[in-house]
Amino acid sequence: MKLSFFGAAQEVTGSCFLLENGKDKILIDCGLFQCPKFCDIRSHDPFPFDPKSVSALFVTHAHVDHTGRIPKLVKEGFSGKIYSTNPTKDLAEIMLKDSVSVMAKEAERDNEKVPYTEEDVDRVMSVWEGKNYHESVNVGDFKVVFYDAGHILGSAMVLVEASGKKILFTGDLGNPANPLLNGFEKVAGAEVLVLESTYGDREHEDVEEKKLKLERVIEQSVVQGGVLMIPAFSLEKTQELLWEISDMLRKKQVPNVQIFLDSPLAIRATEVYQKYYSYLNKAYVDKRSFSFLNFPQVHVALTTEESKKINDAPPPKIIIAGSGMSTGGRILHHERRHLQDPKSTILFIGYQSPASLGRRIQDGADEVTIFGEKIPVRCRKETIYGYSAHPDYAMLLEFVREKSDTLKKIYTTHGEPKSSLALVQKLRDYLGIDARAPKYGESVEI
Ligand SMILES: [Zn+2]
Repeated sequence: MKLSFFGAAQEVTGSCFLLENGKDKILIDCGLFQCPKFCDIRSHDPFPFDPKSVSALFVTHAHVDHTGRIPKLVKEGFSGKIYSTNPTKDLAEIMLKDSVSVMAKEAERDNEKVPYTEEDVDRVMSVWEGKNYHESVNVGDFKVVFYDAGHILGSAMVLVEASGKKILFTGDLGNPANPLLNGFEKVAGAEVLVLESTYGDREHEDVEEKKLKLERVIEQSVVQGGVLMIPAFSLEKTQELLWEISDMLRKKQVPNVQIFLDSPLAIRATEVYQKYYSYLNKAYVDKRSFSFLNFPQVHVALTTEESKKINDAPPPKIIIAGSGMSTGGRILHHERRHLQDPKSTILFIGYQSPASLGRRIQDGADEVTIFGEKIPVRCRKETIYGYSAHPDYAMLLEFVREKSDTLKKIYTTHGEPKSSLALVQKLRDYLGIDARAPKYGESVEI
């Protein structure tokens, strides 16, 4: 059997792995290269294999760096089936259609061609089949099963069995501290592991601190009578925040305050979370008493008009809007209005890339430019680091340790070289397992 790494090899985007067993070929993920642009120039390159020769595609989860080249794959002749869990199928459609508009703007700005259209996404969805966790799919000699990866709703590890061998692809694993999701499942028996290494060199902060800090930030903001702006990614972080804040309000741990969810993409993603309630962590989420969007204090703004009306609601109020790094989206309108208000607060809960507006504000800029207007930054700035959707290296080592009696080889993927290589070293030193960080285009015999 041959395994080739055609993305997420010593980098964090473009996940795409090809498995060949005789004449049968399957792909695991087909993601967009996203660094430095949303749709990096490499996403336009021809695939290093013939899409027509691939029998099936298995998708670990709905993030665009795992799905964003699927329409291109179908356009270029892939005629097999696409498989994922049911929630991933629903979320992927929303995410891919949103990407079409983001890419169209980027393509116009940079005078490039648009990689695909909404019609191409519709064609993708017509050959996409949703499965449950633990249900097996047979393609040629391959038997494939999805297991919960605990990263976002519907996220899965993919266990592939062929020629008497088992290979486990982790996709992106979750942070077990996430209250909404079940942690990653135990999967035994794999000889080969393709392991994500996003934080292969980092240790997370204490997760208990996270909730206390959120409580304190909300309380301060309400007492000051200002606006609490939270730039958040539409998938997962927004739902986790909505759940946590609603839970605090219900338990009266924070003063009563209205929450505005100002992002059509986040609202649609949250509806999918609501639809697939049964996939969430039953220990925390009680179906009878909790609804993400029908919670009395939560108000959604789908249209531009509804978004503008948020301005009419008197403070204190909480506004959750994209984009997560303030590189676009409706959060910019709120930042233009409230960054200059000393009573207001901006709360960062995700990574802010060095070139982003979010990072400039976080780093203490006195003034920023939004829509060509110079805006002084006088509001409070807060950061909570505990919202990572990936495990740190200690969690990754523990994940591997319980499989160490059968594992013969680990390939670290989905990490910057520093993280992937640091994890390789730790896997060798602490667990004595043969590990390597493959490079793009590399093939190995299994
Ligand atoms: Zn992901």
